[in-house]
Amino acid sequence: MQDVVEKVYEQVVARNRGEAEFHQAVREVLESLGPVIAKHPHYAENALLERIVEPERQIMFRVPWVDDAGEVHVNRGFRIEFNSALGPYKGGLRFHPSVNAGIIKFLGFEQIFKNALTGQGIGGGKGGSDFDPHGKSDAEVMRFCQSFMTELSRHIGPSVDVPAGDIGVGGREIGYLFGQYKRLRNSYDAGVLTGKGLAWGGSLVRTEATGYGTVLFAQSMLATKGDSLEGKTVAVSGAGNVAIYAIEKAQQLGAKPITFSDSSGYVVDEAGVDLELLKQVKEVERGRVADYVSRRPGARLVTEGRPWDVPVDVALPCATQNELDADNAATLLRNGCAVVAEGANMPSTPEAIEAFQAAGILYAPGKASNAGGVATSALEMEQNAGRTRWDFATAEAKLTGIMADIHDSCVEAAETYGRPGDYVLGANAAGFTRVADVMIAHGIV
Ligand code: GLU
Repeated sequence: MQDVVEKVYEQVVARNRGEAEFHQAVREVLESLGPVIAKHPHYAENALLERIVEPERQIMFRVPWVDDAGEVHVNRGFRIEFNSALGPYKGGLRFHPSVNAGIIKFLGFEQIFKNALTGQGIGGGKGGSDFDPHGKSDAEVMRFCQSFMTELSRHIGPSVDVPAGDIGVGGREIGYLFGQYKRLRNSYDAGVLTGKGLAWGGSLVRTEATGYGTVLFAQSMLATKGDSLEGKTVAVSGAGNVAIYAIEKAQQLGAKPITFSDSSGYVVDEAGVDLELLKQVKEVERGRVADYVSRRPGARLVTEGRPWDVPVDVALPCATQNELDADNAATLLRNGCAVVAEGANMPSTPEAIEAFQAAGILYAPGKASNAGGVATSALEMEQNAGRTRWDFATAEAKLTGIMADIHDSCVEAAETYGRPGDYVLGANAAGFTRVADVMIAHGIV
């Protein structure tokens, strides 16, 4: 790292002690900025770098709720409003026991550059809670969401901060959150949340968008080599929204996804994933991946290791941060994997990324390849503001166009800064310069 960015990084570590994921995300971005600052030194002036790594506002709050047996529980809620240079803070809410300030901060930081890449006029934010929706009844999830929103409602609004889903927050939770917001405000502000149901302001394609976009990005990367996904085998991790719709789009483009996973293990289905069955198990029954295996002859459940042990042409990590390490990367490379596109946020460790880049394979960081989800959230906000509703084909065509633009921006920035084909540098440089230019225009704020 250059001296100037090294100093900023050290300050981040000192100020945000113990927040390893946040340090990791900041380091990755700052490392990419070396060639950008060497070419345009003004980006290091007026403490711009110091400002961009410091959230504009951090909200942390108590979330008390009552379970079905009448017992009271207390969780911790977070909303990090990181950067509003380009538009209202925008980013999901994650409900998972692993959530803490450092996790939300890393996600919010990534979101700044991801959202900038979409070109949609949205700032960066993130929130969530250490609440675990697994094993809770609908009524418990509802009471938790109502309590969470009772505090969060003071801080958000359609032009202020627009949350959405992430791990553990889907259509059900967004419904409960929206219902409580509407009641508290006595105002039908549809654009205050995205990922809403279709009958009350949601957008077609939002559910599919992150997974679809990730696969479209992989297809664009392959196209630069005159290749495509047709006939390729694919390893997918995760079994949520992102994974399911990455599998769907990969199948539509002629590829063969053969794995998916959840916390109980991963499934290998050499015949190709039966998408209808997977949707039935995960979306309808809210079951475990083992429930798929028991109904699908030939599929097997592996409880040790990760899907990255399976030989494939393409890997799509769609589960969570740091789910693919140096050993996994070495195994994938040894088995001939030539494309990695991240559907999750920061799923590859720094050592895994280094291995992919050293091997010269096509590697897309999540902030570029998974940006289709938040881009479609911005399209949902646009429909809400216009009190209109687009059909599936219109929304999908817009998503496809946005993903192609993000891909091309990354390619162009990587070339501008002297490392053609480096999507990490490309995504960070393109995202950073868009935010930084506007921060400079807005003065020292
Ligand atoms: N949680 C998603 C992400 O990581 C989507 C956020 C949104 O739609 O606001 O980008």
